[in-house]
Amino acid sequence: MLTVSLTELDRTGPIRLRDEISGDDPLWSDWAGELISPVSVDVKVSATPTGQVVALGRFQARLGRECRRCLEPVEVSLDEELTLLWVPPDRRRGAPSDTDENEGVRQLDPVGDQLDLSPAIREEVVLAAPVFVTCRDDCRGLCPVCGINLNQETCDCDPDEPDPRWDALRALTED
Ligand SMILES: [Zn+2]
Ligand SMILES: [Zn+2]
Repeated sequence: MLTVSLTELDRTGPIRLRDEISGDDPLWSDWAGELISPVSVDVKVSATPTGQVVALGRFQARLGRECRRCLEPVEVSLDEELTLLWVPPDRRRGAPSDTDENEGVRQLDPVGDQLDLSPAIREEVVLAAPVFVTCRDDCRGLCPVCGINLNQETCDCDPDEPDPRWDALRALTED
């Protein structure tokens, strides 16, 4: 579990957590990030004298994506640093809870005395995931005319030849 007891944290000092968040955890349900491995997390959690909670460490994950040019599957490995900070609610006096002037600063909102790190880690994984990936730097993509994968085959299409599907539109815009 990626959860710490705040009382224990106060009593024992920093706690190291090493665990995985499964790729089919409901936590990911509204994210189409396509995890193909569990997210493995290794963090040291500490409490500051002012009541803040800090987690420092790393996470690793593997995502299955599609090359934006040729649409072949691409595996993306993430290995990122984690720096998470939670502040007690009274330190953000007057600030509505969703305006984050300090990006990455979260409001401490434990259930009982248990702080669950997973929602914050989820956010970091989503942020770290690249929006566009390519299978390789010189991926030649798909032929815009016949659609074959130009990394694997060649064709005689003339990419400058207008796509007939645009003719109707062109007729509408030309007068
Ligand atoms: Zn590609
Ligand atoms: Zn072609």
